[in-house]
Amino acid sequence: PQRQPERLQDLIEELTAFVGPELERAHVALRVETDDREVDVLVDEAQLRQALLNLIRNAREAMPQGGSITIAVHHLANSAEISVDDTGPGIPEELRASVFDPFFTTKQRGTGLGLAVTREIIESHEGTIVCEALTAGGTRFRITLPAEESDP
Ligand code: ADP
Ligand code: MG
Repeated sequence: PQRQPERLQDLIEELTAFVGPELERAHVALRVETDDREVDVLVDEAQLRQALLNLIRNAREAMPQGGSITIAVHHLANSAEISVDDTGPGIPEELRASVFDPFFTTKQRGTGLGLAVTREIIESHEGTIVCEALTAGGTRFRITLPAEESDP
């Protein structure tokens, strides 16, 4: 893998510019929240972009009537946290543990591979990914990645 230090906020800005048009067409609003403090991660940029794109597309597909996605980036002590929240219907509790399984899908034309690939990418970067229910009813996918030492 081609790992380089990347500024997470920049990577997400590029990604949101890329997915903006498809979200607009789907009436999905996108918000990005970032800390003042920048955070660098040592990543294969193409892989991390793919991982996040899978989460954004799942969120869009969960909201066929539209809704909103919030991507938040936080710099924790030694890690970067990225969460992708949606205002969709949520994932039933009994299915939440299965969504990362290869070929698990509830879609007529789903491959069930998006989240399996996403988790593989995140774990290969020594990170973690979990799926959580939001009290408002939607879903949060929360990623942590080791943070690089950034410039003072
Ligand atoms: P696919 O998108 O091909 O179904 P994924 O691995 O990307 O495969 O997702 C697996 C399943 O997890 C989906 O079919 C869906 O049931 C559920 N899922 C994933 N993300 C969300 C989400 N944001 N909201 C609701 N359900 C979701
Ligand atoms: Mg998918």
